[in-house]
Amino acid sequence: MRYVSTRGESPSVGFIDAVLAGLAPDGGLYVPQEWPTFSRDEIAAFAGKPYHHVATEVLSRFVGDEIARETLAEMCAEAYATFTHAAVVPVRQLSAGGFMAELFHGPSLAFKDVAMQLLARLSDHVLGQQNRTQTILCATSGDTGGAAVEAFRGQANTKIVVMFPDGRISEVQRRFMTTADEDNVRCVAVAGDFDDCQAILKTSLQDAALKQAVGLSAVNSINFARIVAQSVYYFTSAVALGAPHREVAFAVPSGNFGDGFAGFVAKRMGLPIARIIIATNSNDILARAFEDGRYVRGVTAPTQSPAMDIQSASNFERLYFECVRRDGVETARAFAAFAETGGMDIPPQALAAMRETFTGVSVNEGETARTIVATLRETGELIDPHTAVAVAGMQRARGVTDAPIVVLSTAHPAKFPDTVAAATGETPIMPRTASHLAGKDERFDRLPADADTIKAYVMAFAEG
Ligand SMILES: *Cc1c(COP(=O)(O)O)cnc(C)c1O
Repeated sequence: MRYVSTRGESPSVGFIDAVLAGLAPDGGLYVPQEWPTFSRDEIAAFAGKPYHHVATEVLSRFVGDEIARETLAEMCAEAYATFTHAAVVPVRQLSAGGFMAELFHGPSLAFKDVAMQLLARLSDHVLGQQNRTQTILCATSGDTGGAAVEAFRGQANTKIVVMFPDGRISEVQRRFMTTADEDNVRCVAVAGDFDDCQAILKTSLQDAALKQAVGLSAVNSINFARIVAQSVYYFTSAVALGAPHREVAFAVPSGNFGDGFAGFVAKRMGLPIARIIIATNSNDILARAFEDGRYVRGVTAPTQSPAMDIQSASNFERLYFECVRRDGVETARAFAAFAETGGMDIPPQALAAMRETFTGVSVNEGETARTIVATLRETGELIDPHTAVAVAGMQRARGVTDAPIVVLSTAHPAKFPDTVAAATGETPIMPRTASHLAGKDERFDRLPADADTIKAYVMAFAEG
């Protein structure tokens, strides 16, 4: 399997190079040259199989012959053995026709673990094989950082620097990063918001000299391996509810659009997905794009669901590329215009193609809090604020499909105890596997939102 850039100006690469590079040299994102597919019978055969088995099947279609199947199967088994629920991603019923896939049973209690546990094993394997080391620079809106630190801490071939927006994430989110005491981990509180962190990451990845000097790579959802790993739970959840014999829809709390795009990938691979509801908080660039056909950055506002406080959804470029019939020149033009002016129009034919799969819904702060309360009253479940955005999105978009709707529950409520308690008066109980974090010392540096400063910091750490 070869991977091409969405901007059409980079040579194609294999799976391993696509994973290690993160961003393509022309600034685009890697996508497979063609989408692998599963037949109905192959999808039906996933029923009742362990999660890691389905993961191996899906991953192997994208890896090709670059990693032995047995090795891949071992990685998947190990990655998902770190989850505390035997089903890895259990599906529970919330209401008539409403379900919830719990993606938060991994080490950092958020769905980012699903991909990161696998990515860490993939990259350690490849680096070991090639006798190389890497320095990961990670920009987090709260949960990617914790998942990355949990996955890469102590790994011999990897150093990792995590940037988070200072003061804009929950204490529990921060502690998942800052309490790691391994020498290969550094955390930086950046004086800015997540979009600043992401822009610094992009600038750094485009610095060829830095990239070369420290073996710079990224684990953000611009990394295609993460997208593939996330498409797996669309398969397991849909099959649990009767796919491929019946269609299933999803409601996805969205920020950087990695999770939502993973659903598109599952659909492209043959999974009968009736519709994907993209639920955003008031940072609603995606919801507006699907509604109005204009992709326009707003001002990032802090909300109760901070992992989605994003006004530039990286993976939207991958969808755009698909929906302009894989025209790299047009994609490069559109995203250069977006970078320059903060906005662009989606061509009508591309918008129509997007709307075949996606419905956008934006959910405000009051509705999010009320949904946490109503869900507790109606189901006895405490849900986290990100999940609440998707539950509200599901309710608002009910009319768009007759299929059962699966809400992706992306974080454990104990990761956002203050918000959940403020809404309901109940403090969610921290799972025992994470309760030790509260008493540990924190370690992090504070830096300005300046790419040169961060690059120098990364360089000094990688060389030191
Ligand atoms: C990252 C994150 C999201 C948003 O996922 P994207 O792939 O960035 O759209 C939603 N909920 C939680 C809890 C997250 O950590």
